[in-house]
Amino acid sequence: MGLGGKTTGAAASELGARRCPATPGVAREHPSSRKPRALRPESFTLECIAMTTLRIATWNQDHWKRNPAQREAAWTRLEAMGADVALLQECVPPNSVGRERVLWREIGGTRRWGSAVLSFGMRLEEITHARTKYARHAYALQQTYPGAVAIGRVHPPSGLPVTVISMYGVMDPYVQTTLFRMVADLIPLFDSVDGRRVILGGDLNLETASQSPERPRLLAILGSIESLGLENLFKVAKERPPVSPSCPCETGTSCFHVQTHRHTSFIGTEREQFPAHLDYLFASPELAADCTRLWLDDGDPNWEMSDHRAVLAEFDLSERPDPVRRWDERSFVEQVERTHGAEAGWVARNALDWAEKHQLRIAFEDAIEGQWWAQLDGPNELQWTFSMRTGGDLVIQFQHMRAPFADSTAKDALRSRLNTIPGVAIPSERLGGRPTIPLSALRGPAHLGTFLDVFTDVVSQTRSYWDSNQKSR
Ligand SMILES: [Zn+2]
Repeated sequence: MGLGGKTTGAAASELGARRCPATPGVAREHPSSRKPRALRPESFTLECIAMTTLRIATWNQDHWKRNPAQREAAWTRLEAMGADVALLQECVPPNSVGRERVLWREIGGTRRWGSAVLSFGMRLEEITHARTKYARHAYALQQTYPGAVAIGRVHPPSGLPVTVISMYGVMDPYVQTTLFRMVADLIPLFDSVDGRRVILGGDLNLETASQSPERPRLLAILGSIESLGLENLFKVAKERPPVSPSCPCETGTSCFHVQTHRHTSFIGTEREQFPAHLDYLFASPELAADCTRLWLDDGDPNWEMSDHRAVLAEFDLSERPDPVRRWDERSFVEQVERTHGAEAGWVARNALDWAEKHQLRIAFEDAIEGQWWAQLDGPNELQWTFSMRTGGDLVIQFQHMRAPFADSTAKDALRSRLNTIPGVAIPSERLGGRPTIPLSALRGPAHLGTFLDVFTDVVSQTRSYWDSNQKSR
């Protein structure tokens, strides 16, 4: 499950060193409406005043049609936007951008550039696969035009991690033929633990202001993106740019079109100001509700750095009640380590490995508190064993256990073995209930080993029982 090789020591020291994001090496403009970030001395680490705003930029940099001076100007401009994360398309990050803060690959073929996610100070991890409840194996997300989509997970100092996606509508031969497939590739991500808090942006190369015969398909593509559970920030951000007064879309108050692209062939024609709206930002509902402002960057008024405008959005992440979370192995172990320490995290990780090794179903439920059940699926029924909670304990599922552990004699034998672990004392009157054991009682291989041996026997004896019942039928 990808947790086995991670040492608790490294995880613990990482937590211990958790700090505010590094201040980028460049001056960052703060437009007047931006909440100021707290200034802090260099030595200031933990207990920093949490950054409560998240600023995202999306920008097609038109790398392949720009000269070196224009490219350099574009990167300088990008740094000045004050974004925490940039979603870039048609770009090639320069060597001066540290590889630890950028996810990028070229689309390949005739395109020597690609899409990128770039972090300014926040921890960034690439997401390549998604695990859903529909399959045991993880699904590879980049199947159509790898390099056209970049997917990362960033960790704002306040709030939960955010999944960020940079998406580019590849024309092959035109965008309608590619975008549906690229959206379909992303579906499992939205059924996974990383699918709850998502910001997706990019140059989709589709324009819905024109009254073209193809518009129904283009609207369907936008609808397919919204069907992932995303909202178009050009429609819902609290503050957003005024729509183009001459927009021909005839959609009334639903019009969201602004000009984000200017084709060079339109210069000097009546279409020079046409609302060619190719660039988008979407967010999942919780984040969309937190989007205070959406705007177009005004740092390139003459379209010299790119034929696209950068789009920026700011999110207010301050003070929310704990949301219901979708849990997986990684987030569960991280939460246990954070609240109960490295030893408890070690217990959690090894119990998960045990369940995986014995081919049990690791069943999570969406809740504020994390809990997973080590569940044995049989041909006709299931067997309950134990569950584990981020609150720091294990629940013995005596109440629900089925044959051959349904009767109290069989349960009592399990209880006696569990009670040999120091610190565990389950009273006999709890055989019909769900007694708990603190994770701290199972620290160390000997204690956890005794516990898991008991349930290894429950699993093998239940399987034998099911097998003999099948044969006798
Ligand atoms: Zn319009």
